[in-house]
Amino acid sequence: MILDLFKLDGRVAVVTGGGRGLGQAMAGALAQAGADVVSVTRTAQSEQTRKLVESCGRTFVDMQCDVGQPSERAGLIDRVTAQMGRVDILVNNAGIFQRHPPEDYPLAEFDELMQVHLHAAFDFSQQSAPQMLKRGRGKIINIGSVLTFEGGLNIPAYAAAKHALAGLTKSLANSWSHRGINVNCIAPGYFDTQVADSLKDDPVRGPQILDRIPAGRWGDPDELGGLAVFLASDASNYVHGSVITIDGGWLAR
Ligand code: NDP
Repeated sequence: MILDLFKLDGRVAVVTGGGRGLGQAMAGALAQAGADVVSVTRTAQSEQTRKLVESCGRTFVDMQCDVGQPSERAGLIDRVTAQMGRVDILVNNAGIFQRHPPEDYPLAEFDELMQVHLHAAFDFSQQSAPQMLKRGRGKIINIGSVLTFEGGLNIPAYAAAKHALAGLTKSLANSWSHRGINVNCIAPGYFDTQVADSLKDDPVRGPQILDRIPAGRWGDPDELGGLAVFLASDASNYVHGSVITIDGGWLAR
């Protein structure tokens, strides 16, 4: 039956940045589909996510790791595997947002953003791949943005990192798709989360953005759940190296 293809019973999902926002919504959706969930955040304060996952009767583990620090990333997937037995689904979602005119952009912040968005995604994919390749099955979902396609304003590091995630997605897919790992990228538009607050509340940019969204509203994080479950499940077994937008029509405009 077609709906059975979407079931994730017995699978273990690692969601970086699962503590709030889009990561929390995706963690909840994956749990509803049957997956146990490990959230990886700087603060390990994911109580709301824990409630969402455990209310589905699934196991939740809160792991502390600053994914921007290579030394903290080292061995993380081994630690998850030791505790949960396996990693079937990896969602590289943790993200930060820094806005400065390019001429003033501090290099240290540029490096930090690249580490959090891009280096961490590659590092965790590389750490997860051996067991996924051994089983001939695995799902890696990178979280891009409409800034995977656009330059944006005063966000050179963010735009560069999100563009690079599309390249990473395609490159990994080319190496691993015939060996059972699906690597894909979700490119969300403007969703109502903490990271977006400064934009939404900006008296100039806020209305400008809203006016340009064909759907006429910001996205609700829960609206990402269906796509995340699809890409994490057997329903997407022939989807490889794709960047799928979910943006209320933003890029169609
Ligand atoms: P939020 O700020 O709401 O949540 C970010 C999450 O990432 C938090 O759980 C945070 O945990 C975690 N995080 C941030 N930095 C680190 C770090 N160094 N190490 C570990 N965890 C970290 O963001 P969103 O949910 O809005 O964004 C999630 C992803 O979606 C990001 O990659 C973002 O770029 C992308 N995105 C968001 C859009 C939007 O409109 N909201 C649009 C397009 C893409 P903690 O506080 O503990 O560090």
